Amino acid sequence: MSSAFSAEVGNRRTFGIISHPDAGKTTITEKLLLLGNAIQLAGTVKGKKTGRMATSDWMQMEQDRGISITTSVMQFPYKDRMVNLLDTPGHEDFSEDTYRTLTAVDSVLMVIDGAKGVEDRTIKLMDVCRLRDTPIFTFINKMDREVRDHIEVLDEIETVLKIKCAPVTWPIGMGKAFRGVYNLYTDTVHLFQPGQASVVPDDVQIKGIDSAEARAELGDELVDELIDEVELVRGASYEFDLQQYLDGEMTPVFFGTALANFGIREMLNYFVDWAPAPIERETKERTVKPDEEKFSGFIFKIQANMDPKHRDRIAFMRICSGTYTKGMKMKHTRIGKDIKVADAVTFLAGDRSNVEEAISGEIIGLHNHGTIQIGDTFTQGEELQFTGIPHFAPELFRRVRLKDPLKMKQLQKGLQQLSEEGATQLFMPLNNNDLILGAVGVLQFDVVQQRLRDEYKVECIYEPISVTTARWVACDDERKLEEFRKKASENLAIDGGGHLTYIATSRVNLSLTEERWPEIAFRATREH
Ligand code: GDP
Repeated sequence: MSSAFSAEVGNRRTFGIISHPDAGKTTITEKLLLLGNAIQLAGTVKGKKTGRMATSDWMQMEQDRGISITTSVMQFPYKDRMVNLLDTPGHEDFSEDTYRTLTAVDSVLMVIDGAKGVEDRTIKLMDVCRLRDTPIFTFINKMDREVRDHIEVLDEIETVLKIKCAPVTWPIGMGKAFRGVYNLYTDTVHLFQPGQASVVPDDVQIKGIDSAEARAELGDELVDELIDEVELVRGASYEFDLQQYLDGEMTPVFFGTALANFGIREMLNYFVDWAPAPIERETKERTVKPDEEKFSGFIFKIQANMDPKHRDRIAFMRICSGTYTKGMKMKHTRIGKDIKVADAVTFLAGDRSNVEEAISGEIIGLHNHGTIQIGDTFTQGEELQFTGIPHFAPELFRRVRLKDPLKMKQLQKGLQQLSEEGATQLFMPLNNNDLILGAVGVLQFDVVQQRLRDEYKVECIYEPISVTTARWVACDDERKLEEFRKKASENLAIDGGGHLTYIATSRVNLSLTEERWPEIAFRATREH
């Protein structure tokens, strides 16, 4: 591969933000876009707070409830890098979406509320990152408030999240007395400039903590305190090691306040240097390198209604190698067909624009007319299937009933399509005509109900059903599987992707069945 192309790919940084709700993910996203000059004025990301048209939120429901459900993609240039930020839903009911988005990034930014420390959802998301040893940057937010002891918070990150902390910046004061951050590696004070929340803040630096200038600016007392504290911190924490960061064992830590727009640039400057460029990806057949010439990519997300004016569905693809060019032919490997893509889209800070070209590490959106599913692989001819993009066994179930029985066709079509998008999962029992919806979080049901109404013009109601969980069934022995199909048919269904599924009425029922049929595999996740 040409070294020019390798260098281009090497300039991409594709990441997602993980945090507990309210830690400040949305606010940081805004400020990142601001720093990347991708938006003029902060405050366009979430509609609920500013009353502006939301950029990353798209459904009325999200605005009504003030939660961010969907994943969108934002791209902005910073220094000589091209940064791609994949937004993840904060609400835990959409954790499946978040999980799949994390399969499409190369690294993660973890945001911690400095007053609260490590919270539930961060722990769960961290578990997901662990599965791939995703490299993690940490930003400890809300330094403009009276927050917890910072060393204690670092300690909590290390013990609870099991990752070594290497602080790069350290806060100077907090709350009303917050004055800025100190860089432990360059011995530089970065002074907080109040009143610059909506602009790229001035970059005021003082070289040397023990300098006359720092003492004049901050006062002897604060400087002496800081010197002592920094000595303590150096003793109690790790020195940054790039390899350990890339292996997911160590996280560089930065402090600041997203709301007042400070400390984020100081982090971003390191992020674009240290965070990994597009990494190689596994397929069933072989490892795909990002600087290979031939194009390949996989779908990690399908989303409808991005723009109410175009009622289409967009399949988000992570490009894993090569270049997408407008009008190119791609092979849709699951169905073995070539398709011509003339109008892929990108989301430059929320504006949908036609892409002429996109390369490894970038995300493009394909218009989906029902043939694309989550997990699908596209190539320039080669038979490949990217791995590691799972569906999870749902834990919540409802039977779907129609208000108007004549609309059965629309209902089936709607449920089928929504399950292909991963909005919910659909199960059709072998022995009756029920339509059973499965979800990981309860809000998914509301989304489906609303979208059936808006997009398919069907009113449905939900009924409770005594199903506890589902398992995808597999067995190498055809005869055994057939026998199981007959004997257990009461509890068997076909899911939206055509896979045989065991629908368990209780945990006990599931474990008894597993014991009774040792030859059968009962899987809690399904891959393409
Ligand atoms: P998300 O749920 O993680 O996306 O969090 P948001 O960005 O929506 O922030 C949650 C709340 O915390 C909002 O009211 C923000 O204005 C506030 N917030 C975010 N960053 C800061 C900060 O640095 N300082 C203070 N005081 N509040 C913040």
